[in-house]
Amino acid sequence: MKDSIAVSKENYLKAILEADAEGRQVFPATLAHWLEVSAPAVTMALKRLKRDGYVEVGADGIVRLTEKGRETAYHTALRHHLIERMLSEIFGMEWYEIHEEAERLEHAVSPAFEAKLRERLGEGGACPHGNAVLPENPAERKCRGEVPLSEALPGQHYVVTSLQERDPQLLLFLHRNGIGPSKQLCVLSQNYDQTVSIQLHGGDSILGRPAAEAVWLRPGTDK
Ligand SMILES: [Zn+2]
Repeated sequence: MKDSIAVSKENYLKAILEADAEGRQVFPATLAHWLEVSAPAVTMALKRLKRDGYVEVGADGIVRLTEKGRETAYHTALRHHLIERMLSEIFGMEWYEIHEEAERLEHAVSPAFEAKLRERLGEGGACPHGNAVLPENPAERKCRGEVPLSEALPGQHYVVTSLQERDPQLLLFLHRNGIGPSKQLCVLSQNYDQTVSIQLHGGDSILGRPAAEAVWLRPGTDK
């Protein structure tokens, strides 16, 4: 578990905003899990965030951002996005190495440096995990023809469009299993035990559900 002081106000707000963008409801226990902090630490943090006008906690226990909270969260997410792109596009760091680095640096960026990054990288590009500033709602992705690996069809060829990047350990795991943005794969079977068997250029692999749910695909084999 992390030191609760190391998990800042911005981390909480960003986690809530990202979940909201994915169409998920946020409970204090969800935050404890995602941010790897204890339940009492979350209670303390939410109390402060509520007092300062960043969040509201409903009678249903759901944590929601206020307008002020949403603005701060979006700004943190934008800085995170720009730093990931800087590390990848300017310094050539690999996609599976940069998430934690960006988590640290996003709190240290001055407005002047942020402006420089925007100027250099431009707006609207995808991060090296294939994501926009905020994650997209799964329903919207499916409308566009994308599908998570956990629901992909056997016998069909796919290209990886993006990876859910909340968990750096998962990113490393996917990399070690030959999966990354723009990699091609063929689904061999969706198995009874909720795993999925896939064929990659480097060989076959079997992924469990938590990993398969984090990989988004579009049908096809082209680049
Ligand atoms: Zn990313």
